[in-house]
Amino acid sequence: MTRGSLFVVSAPSGAGKTSLVAALLESRPDIVVSVSHTTRKPRQGEVNGRHYHFASAEDFLGMVQDGAFLEHARVFDHYYGTSRQAVEDELTAGHDVILEIDWQGAQQVRRLMPECYSIFILPPSKAALEQRLRSRGKDSDEIIARRLRDATEDISHYDEYDYVVVNDNFDLALGEMESIFRANRLRTRSQMQSYRSLLDELLADTSKTP
Ligand code: 5GP
Repeated sequence: MTRGSLFVVSAPSGAGKTSLVAALLESRPDIVVSVSHTTRKPRQGEVNGRHYHFASAEDFLGMVQDGAFLEHARVFDHYYGTSRQAVEDELTAGHDVILEIDWQGAQQVRRLMPECYSIFILPPSKAALEQRLRSRGKDSDEIIARRLRDATEDISHYDEYDYVVVNDNFDLALGEMESIFRANRLRTRSQMQSYRSLLDELLADTSKTP
């Protein structure tokens, strides 16, 4: 079984990360997204266990103590973390796994699993970012203003990532994301495992056969 690859996807809030990842999953059922734990309250329409595992601060900090998280960080006054076991199980099952996490978590994952690939999604402009945050209609003015300030901090980390995708035209950005995943499957390390018997046959020494 070929072990899956780990991908980290980060973006400032409102850059379209969640929509891009959701569309990517529709065309690539072999990719899974890790469901994070968080201490923030569910937004309207969010389902426990599907969008996040919603937890109390006490339970979350207990999991930190137990070493249950591959990475965790405080973002917008709440804790977020990625379950170590869940990610390991999916990778072992041969699935590519996406972590939708912030730059602090990305730094931790890169240290622990340097073989991961990381993608940063940029909005096409500051005005577009603000427009997208407002049109979601999910957050108060105060939260939107704070998220815009935090976006500049987030974006300053773009150069720590392997790939940068600008989400101006959605379909174009999706195509770029798909190319990153497709190219990864063609890497020698992956092809070596997928085509083991072909390579064995091609490399067999035939000089000794009569
Ligand atoms: P939201 O509350 O809008 O769903 O997410 C807020 C921020 O937290 C986003 O930047 C998102 O990528 C980040 N985030 C979500 N889950 C995790 C996680 O498990 N770890 C880290 N470090 N960040 C996360």
